[in-house]
Amino acid sequence: MNLEKLLRPNIASLTPYSSARDEFSGEASVFLDANESPYNGPFNRYPDPLQLELKKRISVIKNVPVENIFLGNGSDEPIDLLFRAFCEPGKDNVVSIAPTYGMYKVCADINNTEVISVPLRTNFDLDSIEVLRAVNENTKMIFLCSPNNPTGNALDAYEIKHIIEKFEGLVILDEAYIDFCKDKSFVPDLASYPNLVILHTLSKAWAMAALRLGMAFASEEIIKVLNTIKYPYNINLLTQKKVLAQLSKQKPNAKWMRTTLLEREAMATELNKLQFVLKVYPSDANFLLVQVEQPKKIYEFLVDRKIIVRDRSNVLLCENCLRISIGSPEENANLIKSLHIWDDYQK
Ligand SMILES: *Cc1c(COP(=O)(O)O)cnc(C)c1O
Repeated sequence: MNLEKLLRPNIASLTPYSSARDEFSGEASVFLDANESPYNGPFNRYPDPLQLELKKRISVIKNVPVENIFLGNGSDEPIDLLFRAFCEPGKDNVVSIAPTYGMYKVCADINNTEVISVPLRTNFDLDSIEVLRAVNENTKMIFLCSPNNPTGNALDAYEIKHIIEKFEGLVILDEAYIDFCKDKSFVPDLASYPNLVILHTLSKAWAMAALRLGMAFASEEIIKVLNTIKYPYNINLLTQKKVLAQLSKQKPNAKWMRTTLLEREAMATELNKLQFVLKVYPSDANFLLVQVEQPKKIYEFLVDRKIIVRDRSNVLLCENCLRISIGSPEENANLIKSLHIWDDYQK
């Protein structure tokens, strides 16, 4: 893979913004170079543009060198930056699977980039041959999501590998739900695949959605590109500090994870007892995709009872499906109770 060639020409030749902290990052006692206020510490100073302290911690947790880590304002930021770096608007395209996470298409549309969508098989398995067949000379990236949203299943590792090995552009593998999954992450394989970008997030298993921290793991070359085009101070000080404090506690809190996985199985069992439930799809994530009779009516019934689930019934291959996040045991019991009331109405 030739990264230079893959980049948009204007990005390949870009002179990035150079901040005061880029030009001097050593120790000093008097900083008069950034037009900051001397008052109201610690909020008066610009935060570290490359979040080194936080990256060192994440490096230990994920076993990835600091040079191979990019941190963004949620995973949405690296997704958008990848389009801006590699896809010439109105010319280049990306290939993705369907159904999948909606943000890839939104970022593509914002960047005036076509998405060539390849349907998963009816059991939601990935067909690597079909994905590769969809590629043409203007395809810069392939987006894969495993475990996939909204289907909940992990994609087959051999199919994923086949795509990474055969495609000459970048493969973006979104592993937002990997902590809920038995299959292993592709992170340990990163060094063997210079065209692979892996996305992780603190928004799901790590229970920090409000702090907005997404991670991209990739070759040093790719990470440099993302750093060059990001906003200089994309992660604010409060997020850097709060995340660091939370991460020094533990991995994704082991007790929360255990409860969520037990609840996922218990919920599937309970849902299968309901007359109107046609199918509960197997899940490798913290949600269940459930095929039901009359999804819209059930959705409205639950809203009236102040319970919100996600109506996915208009999504390709998800006809009549609701997507239900695994909540706390109390929240889940509340949902199941309401669904029994609905079931009794139908009789
Ligand atoms: C929730 C989710 C994310 C996380 O997005 P953030 O911007 O990091 O909160 C990423 N990818 C998928 C597939 C998701 O479902």
